[in-house]
Amino acid sequence: MDWSFDIRSALLVGALLTLLIGAVLLVVARALPADYRSSLNWWVLATLLQPAGFVLLSLRDQVSPWISIVIANGCIALAFAAYATSLLRFYRLPPRPVLLGGLTLVALAISLHWGVLQPRFTERLIAISVVMSAVLGYCAWILYRRADARGPLRHVAGGAFAVAAAIMAYRAVILLFDPTQVTTIFQLTHVQLLTYAVGAVLPVVATVGFLLLCTERSQRELERAARVDYLTGCYNRRAIEELGAQAMAAARRHGTPLAVLVLDIDHFKRINDELGHAAGDEALVQAVHRLREDLRTEDVLGRLGGEEFILLLPNTDSASAVSAAERIRQAFSGTPLRLGEDARTVTLSIGAAVLAPADRKFSQLLQRADRAMYAAKNAGRDLVMADAMSGWENAPGERAPRA
Ligand code: GH3
Ligand code: MG
Ligand code: MG
Repeated sequence: MDWSFDIRSALLVGALLTLLIGAVLLVVARALPADYRSSLNWWVLATLLQPAGFVLLSLRDQVSPWISIVIANGCIALAFAAYATSLLRFYRLPPRPVLLGGLTLVALAISLHWGVLQPRFTERLIAISVVMSAVLGYCAWILYRRADARGPLRHVAGGAFAVAAAIMAYRAVILLFDPTQVTTIFQLTHVQLLTYAVGAVLPVVATVGFLLLCTERSQRELERAARVDYLTGCYNRRAIEELGAQAMAAARRHGTPLAVLVLDIDHFKRINDELGHAAGDEALVQAVHRLREDLRTEDVLGRLGGEEFILLLPNTDSASAVSAAERIRQAFSGTPLRLGEDARTVTLSIGAAVLAPADRKFSQLLQRADRAMYAAKNAGRDLVMADAMSGWENAPGERAPRA
């Protein structure tokens, strides 16, 4: 069988594939959140520029070197810089216009100098390969720079860029020692085949990898949104019940105490009635800020609903729980919240409970803290009350009021 490989066709097929995958990206982009838009636009630009560059390369000997060398390499260098910019945007990193624009200009200058002004084939190829390797390597570095924080999906795009960067570096080294490996761009050597793989395969694999990263992130954001209260940004009831059960299991495993505070804003309805619902919302947001000020890293804050909050305090015994609650109560009653033009003192009724041997489910512990909170309401509000079943006898010296 006569098998022949024609580089010009391979370049055109690669270009077509890249355009197609760019079109797929455009379609999928519409299903992704709007804040990915700018990152996606840069990627789509790359998938337009790169095939344009490769088509122009394939016209070598048919059109002026200005087009098939300078503009072609300019398109490809710009395309690689666009991939990098897209990735920087995706990870919300600062843009690098000087670095990326600079590398693109260097590629253009090399093409101009050794392509048109003083044509030198090998020197040009080596220099261009080094620049392209740098930009592709930078793309891989963006994807890998904080390995701990990202999942395995980054290997698809990251691997594609790393391999492409390695191939370009390899080409530069090979040509340094053996310039006969590439004497015209249509020569069929392994170095050339590898180079054209970068042109045809990289965009497809990298784009698929990039799409996977986009969908993975939007999935993660949806999961997060399902656990977070949209108004105040703290955990919602569903998440806090899960985290509470986990904290309870951990406390049992390590034999450490676990305390729960239930905090309800007093006469919150009046804020809504007197200042409007928006001021009520603002009061909730500010209350969460104030609650957060005093938390340790392991403490967990959640909104149970309405104007009722919960604090999980791991490794906290009854005495410390009551003094923490008292500190919070005083922080609210002592300093008014700023609600737009108005300053308004908001007080809390707080119920405290600690994990008891009899608790089988987190809801039982929560219920005891809740009952203590209602006791604080009944006793006149702006008070801390401790649950009676929470083993306060373990806290000598603490005069916790009892529910
Ligand atoms: P108490 O001291 O007995 O707790 O009185 P209260 O007014 O704080 O409690 P009540 O349960 O009677 O009223 C709670 C109010 O909180 C009623 C509801 O309209 C309001 N509310 C619940 N969720 C929100 C919210 O997300 N935003 C605003 N602005 N108001 C809310
Ligand atoms: Mg209330
Ligand atoms: Mg309430």
